[in-house]
Amino acid sequence: MSLKGKTALITGSTSGIGLGIAQGFADQGINIVMNGFGDKDKIEAERKALEDKGVSAIYHGADMTKPEEIRDMVALAEKEFGAVDILVNNAGIQHVCPVEDFPEEKWDAILGIILSSAFHTTKASIGGMRKAGWGRIINMCSAHGLVASPYKTAYVSAKHGLLGLTKTIGLEVAQDNITCNAICPGYVFTPLVENQIADTAKARGISEEEVVNNVLLAAQWTKKFVTIEQVAGIALFLCSDTAANITGTDIVVDGGWTAA
Ligand code: NAD
Repeated sequence: MSLKGKTALITGSTSGIGLGIAQGFADQGINIVMNGFGDKDKIEAERKALEDKGVSAIYHGADMTKPEEIRDMVALAEKEFGAVDILVNNAGIQHVCPVEDFPEEKWDAILGIILSSAFHTTKASIGGMRKAGWGRIINMCSAHGLVASPYKTAYVSAKHGLLGLTKTIGLEVAQDNITCNAICPGYVFTPLVENQIADTAKARGISEEEVVNNVLLAAQWTKKFVTIEQVAGIALFLCSDTAANITGTDIVVDGGWTAA
């Protein structure tokens, strides 16, 4: 089945995994609605690079903590393209801190950006998917949707909640040719992670290789980062006909982390 001409709205697609999914989707002829923060010129350059692949790409800067902006973004996508055929809830932030010191505004922001935004985008998009008779919802979860790590109260709670949302929506749309699934990556080699390696090596007085194996990938049994392309490939698979009967579940790509 060709996905050419479908439209994907990907939250948090100005960087890292979201941008990689946008590029992988555009390679298959899927129109893109980009979203996320960042430098205006860089975002415009990425948008143009997507169009160079022969698709239409638009950008909406909706803040995922603001439901009215989310609704406006979905409305723009539907106006431009007819429907959001593929919704990827990917935007996310992290804050690491013991619970007694965890700032309340960080709790609200993380729950808002990771969990509540996925509710709002889904609620706004599902009518259009039903009308179009086809849809795919992909929630970017994490190994932290399945297991916890200390000091990540909000992130772990939000990602566990996102799996609950995934299961519930999967059931609600099961007979409408729409699927809803989550991807649970372990450590993914995004620029964000890459930039930490040299600094951590310096701070701890160990080699960059030791940082990767003993700090970042301590729980990842393959001792290899998941790549952005691997996550994008799984997202594409979930859009395929082969995956039409996969719904309300998650695909784990964590180098063995949660098997132990
Ligand atoms: P990233 O920082 O490179 O990208 C995050 C994106 O979210 C950016 O485009 C950013 O602008 C956007 N964003 C942040 N706050 C926003 C807001 N209020 N409104 C709209 N957009 C906002 O990070 P990434 O590593 O690519 O992470 C993407 C997703 O993958 C996140 O949900 C993250 O939890 C998940 N994830 C990442 C890893 C990893 O190791 N990198 C592992 C598992 C899951």
